[in-house]
Amino acid sequence: MPHACGQLSRAPPGTWQHGGVTAATHSSLFPQMPESADAVLGGLDPEQREVATALHGPVCVLAGAGTGKTRAITHRIAYGVRAGILQPASVLAVTFTNRAAGEMRGRLRQLGAGGVQARTFHSAALRQLQYFWPKAVGGELPRLLERKIQLVAEAAARCRVRLDRNELRDVTGEIEWSKVTQTVPADYPAAAAKSLREVPRDAAEISQIYAMYEQLKRDRGVIDFEDVLLLTVGILQDRPDIADQVRRQYVHFVVDEYQDVSPLQQRLLDLWLGDRDSLCVVGDASQTIYSFTGATPDHLLNFRTRHPNATVVKLVRDYRSTPQVVHLANGLLAQARGRAAEHRLELVSQRDPGPDPAYTEYADEPTEAEGVARRIRDLIASGVPASEIAVLFRINAQSEIYEQALADAGVPYQLRGAERFFERTEVREAGAALRGAARFGGNDALLDDVVDLPSQVRAVLSTKGWTTEPPAGSGAVRDRWESLAALVRLAEDFARAKEGATLADLVAELDERANAQHAPTVEGVTLASLHAAKGLEWDAVFLVGLTEGMMPITYAKTDEQVEEERRLLYVGVTRARVHLSLSWALSRSPGGRASRRPSRFLSGLRPGSAAPGARSAGGAGGIERGSGARRKRRGPVQCRVCGKTLTEAGEMKLMRCEDCPSDMDEALYERLREWRSDQAKQLGQPAYCVFTDKTLMAIAEAEPSTDGELAVIPGVGARKLDRFGADVLALCAGQELAEEDGED
Ligand code: ATP
Ligand code: MG
Repeated sequence: MPHACGQLSRAPPGTWQHGGVTAATHSSLFPQMPESADAVLGGLDPEQREVATALHGPVCVLAGAGTGKTRAITHRIAYGVRAGILQPASVLAVTFTNRAAGEMRGRLRQLGAGGVQARTFHSAALRQLQYFWPKAVGGELPRLLERKIQLVAEAAARCRVRLDRNELRDVTGEIEWSKVTQTVPADYPAAAAKSLREVPRDAAEISQIYAMYEQLKRDRGVIDFEDVLLLTVGILQDRPDIADQVRRQYVHFVVDEYQDVSPLQQRLLDLWLGDRDSLCVVGDASQTIYSFTGATPDHLLNFRTRHPNATVVKLVRDYRSTPQVVHLANGLLAQARGRAAEHRLELVSQRDPGPDPAYTEYADEPTEAEGVARRIRDLIASGVPASEIAVLFRINAQSEIYEQALADAGVPYQLRGAERFFERTEVREAGAALRGAARFGGNDALLDDVVDLPSQVRAVLSTKGWTTEPPAGSGAVRDRWESLAALVRLAEDFARAKEGATLADLVAELDERANAQHAPTVEGVTLASLHAAKGLEWDAVFLVGLTEGMMPITYAKTDEQVEEERRLLYVGVTRARVHLSLSWALSRSPGGRASRRPSRFLSGLRPGSAAPGARSAGGAGGIERGSGARRKRRGPVQCRVCGKTLTEAGEMKLMRCEDCPSDMDEALYERLREWRSDQAKQLGQPAYCVFTDKTLMAIAEAEPSTDGELAVIPGVGARKLDRFGADVLALCAGQELAEEDGED
């Protein structure tokens, strides 16, 4: 691995951000800094150059996916700074996610323009709020509520309204929408009706819960995510002296992904700007995917009306994707309707031709996940780095089955939200714990008998929930574990790179990385929702679960909502540089009725489908049938205890309902886990790539004595049978494995 820790801490600043899953990873690990301001322009085409050199007055860039909008604004800032026209500290670049902000800071440093602030609206506002709160309000800023859902549940209970899980999520969404559209509780019913919102409950009830929620927050002295913007807006509005101070600091504003700006963010931007006009916005109305939260592309599309003297630039060359991917993207947009669609721009690929997008129909979801995992393994074998591959889905709940399938295929993966590594709660807590332990030095009872650094780190982090094995399943618990495991790996690398390193050295290294946002890299396939994939790119992208009901999602009912779903698919398609795979399954579980249909958005585009507007993608080969459907049609999986048909992926793996009694041999399970951990260490892979917890449990329950019995356990494919079968059967037979089983 070229990412050894000591090496990185000496690397020139600005190179760290390419360790992640995004663009240009391999090609530009150590790029040269351009020699001059003019050299900064060297990497741009004529229109991008026009953006970069328009440093005065309002600028608006309207352009499709992959045309280099983000690149153009980054170079614009760097050019301005290098040419001495923009003071670095006077520029505020606003991006959509913390991760995009981190990336932009890194690229700016590479281009010789460090010191420019690149932040999300939220983090920029939070900083200002923290700074000005004592002066504007007095005392300390109230604590930030991390998740509102619990408080909303409490508010609903106090209002004597019973909400199920989905309603709770939807009501929370309504509260968020109200806040970003600056709607107070009393006005919610009228505002929701006016905006034609599909309300999950009676609007009056929601308004009541919303009011109670605000009350509870006040009582507890906490603020939520949206309050950060609302309060900043309030202070800037009410305190001209503070607004002046902020405006003296920031003179030039640049906003990426402007099509998804909310009214509240726009209000904040207006206040920051005051009566000045150094504002550069870039966006693509066809990628508006957050209107459900109150965002609107109107600000982008009306920019010229608000700023009649604006320089407007259009970019059409797509540098990201092959002609094949671009053809599909254009085809998707050609069917789009609505205001955003009127402004669409046909993309023109600048890349060499690549493979046609692959369309695959599978019999059921587990088969789809297995098929995707198999293709991913093939891609990796053909030389595509795992970190250059992504599986994108519509809702987070879809990730579990892909986690399982990738683990079964022995492919490491990482789940991606938008959060920066060092800002995750568990990472901050772990950092605090390590700092505490380092301060106590040898006097910490926890570390009494532990000498080497990695063991010390493991000991400290186990108090925070780190375990040698990952927890079963997915979701927040798994994410948390992944973060802690990444810290443990980082400590191991660090100790290897720096002999005699102490805990205090590691803490210093962590601080340095946190400042530079240099997250430890996980060389794995990315699993992410389409929403979280915004702005990113990979060599290979798998768009999965493309059925009616998932894409568009069932709750997209109005035409506008359906159009937003289409844009979401467009965002997905345009994340791929070269390999693009689209797939769907005809039924949810094996043996189920094949009642599902492929997404309507693919009609006329996927081979063999009727075109709604008589447009055909052509070129693409036929639709493949997933191998599961072709070779064997699997029957339904039944619980081996009660006989019920199983539908959950995890239960199918166990071959019984989660709550049916387990007849597992606990001692065998423990032996299997120990063996797995040794194997994982030898292979240098996460333990789940050997077998997942669920598969080990199924083995410990079934106690197979032959290859055939072992092979039928889900998660034990031919490859794993070949590799691990003898060991597992020996363990099941109660035999001791030879001590030196490290010959693998
Ligand atoms: P999105 O709409 O998805 O946010 P974007 O318009 O912001 O896309 P970028 O991410 O800036 O596009 O660029 C897409 C890819 O094309 C990146 O890998 C970028 O480095 C590359 N690229 C952009 N412009 C050029 C150029 N002039 N020469 C070479 N590569 C370029
Ligand atoms: Mg971009």
